Amino acid sequence: MTRFNIKKRDGLARTGMFQAGVTMLNLPAALDVETLFPELDARTGTNIPLCAPPALVKQYSPLNEGQPVSIHPHLENPAQSSDCVMVADWHTAFLNPRNYVDWLITLKEKTPVDTAWYAPASALPSNVHILCYSGFDLFDFRAVDLKTAQGRFCTPEGDFPKEVLGGGICTCTGCQKNELKLHNRQALLHEIALVSRFIEESRLRDLVESRCRLDAAQVAIMRHLDNQYPFMELHLPVARSGVMRANSGESLQRAEVRKFAERVVSRYIPPKTDVAVLLPCSAKKPYSLSQSHRKFQMAIAGRAQELIVTSPLGLVPRELECVYPAGHYDVPVTGYWDAEECAVIAGILVRYFKRHAYRRIIAHLEGGALKVARMAADQCGITLEYSCLEHPTSDLALNALDCILAGERRMKDDRLHGMVSYQFDYDLDTKGTTVRGHFPELFYSKNNVQVFSIDTGTGLLRPTFDGWNLLPKGYRVYIDDFIPEGDVLVPGVVRADPEIRDGDEVFVIGARAQATGRAALPSEEILRSRRGVAVHVRKIKRL
Ligand SMILES: [Zn+2]
Repeated sequence: MTRFNIKKRDGLARTGMFQAGVTMLNLPAALDVETLFPELDARTGTNIPLCAPPALVKQYSPLNEGQPVSIHPHLENPAQSSDCVMVADWHTAFLNPRNYVDWLITLKEKTPVDTAWYAPASALPSNVHILCYSGFDLFDFRAVDLKTAQGRFCTPEGDFPKEVLGGGICTCTGCQKNELKLHNRQALLHEIALVSRFIEESRLRDLVESRCRLDAAQVAIMRHLDNQYPFMELHLPVARSGVMRANSGESLQRAEVRKFAERVVSRYIPPKTDVAVLLPCSAKKPYSLSQSHRKFQMAIAGRAQELIVTSPLGLVPRELECVYPAGHYDVPVTGYWDAEECAVIAGILVRYFKRHAYRRIIAHLEGGALKVARMAADQCGITLEYSCLEHPTSDLALNALDCILAGERRMKDDRLHGMVSYQFDYDLDTKGTTVRGHFPELFYSKNNVQVFSIDTGTGLLRPTFDGWNLLPKGYRVYIDDFIPEGDVLVPGVVRADPEIRDGDEVFVIGARAQATGRAALPSEEILRSRRGVAVHVRKIKRL
């Protein structure tokens, strides 16, 4: 019997407690797998090459008895919840990054999510980060032992001739004893411990972006995965509370960056004004807390909608400045935007301005952001007005911004309306709502009853029961006829709206109780799993 209790997810990567018979271990892990699955060595037909033609694969289907369950991209998947699945030959997938990603998606889509994933003879200190990022959790020492036999000294940055053993690169017990095999195994265990730490902190992407630079195939795998937006988006949480480091060109293609831009273009409803000012970003987040944005806001004085032009997110409407990742990203600031960056971000602006018509668009920008705004204006045939061309925070520029808006009417400040449209895809009538609190910790009420608050970690809105009553559709999780005690578990869920992702605020509805809370899984996984928490409950109301 096996069981995998997932503790923490970070995209496809997981940490958790795995049980096989009487053995318990924390995943991800590497070990002598014979101790876990003693009969595996004697099992035949498990080693079918991944690139073998489908007809041949079907001819030599593995005999699946017991654990782990052998799976193959060309075969029907016999795996069930709680199984440990094994993908033989996965190390050969690195030879062709496109196949790696195609096979991975094929396998992930037909395998229950609450399964542990074993990649035999694949893990090295230099590739285990991307194996975990791809959703593998269990490894053995065969690949590092092979390196030992070949006389190679393994590190996370690659391998070297064994003569470097004892040269000071590493000081593990293997190095102290001059034992290459022990060093190589310890190097793998050390790297897995580091990967686990990054998963726990929801930062595995940062480690992968940094580690993969030394191996072209790994960079290609990361990029191909980013190109599979619907697949990646499904597995990512809607929001995190930590910093999103956008330190490489690949940040532009990152699913959470694309998702933000998609929602700004397709869901977000701007306030009722036909004047917009394009502003530069600030290093401090949310922008409103920066000195520069205080000055911009004073000069604008509510006479225009404020849109921040920024890389890699594209366009951040003022109302969304706290929402992940707008309130959380960190970029290296050079003032220089490269050609791809400009093209991608101009593309977002074009889509936005084609959807929303303005009478006046004033660019209060300089450098790369100004260039992008001009590119977008050219592409969609709109004329920009300029309140500055450099030094947007100078007195001269701020004065010009004030003057250019002379005669424009003050618009209603309606942060809640914009946020609801972005998060819940709904055009909320906010008439009669009041706000209190100290920015960014805000509370919204209607008729003196609290309806929403802002989660200062993620920047998302948290509806109360009365808040949910204002949102007639979406983000519902329907449960069986019971009263949840604590969190709602997967088996209790009957139905969940398809747009729900990990981290979304949801409304739990049952015959005997209602609850507010946060989804722990995307709806698809809630319905495909048999175990685990579906919704972290905040409040329960008995009916
Ligand atoms: Zn060592």
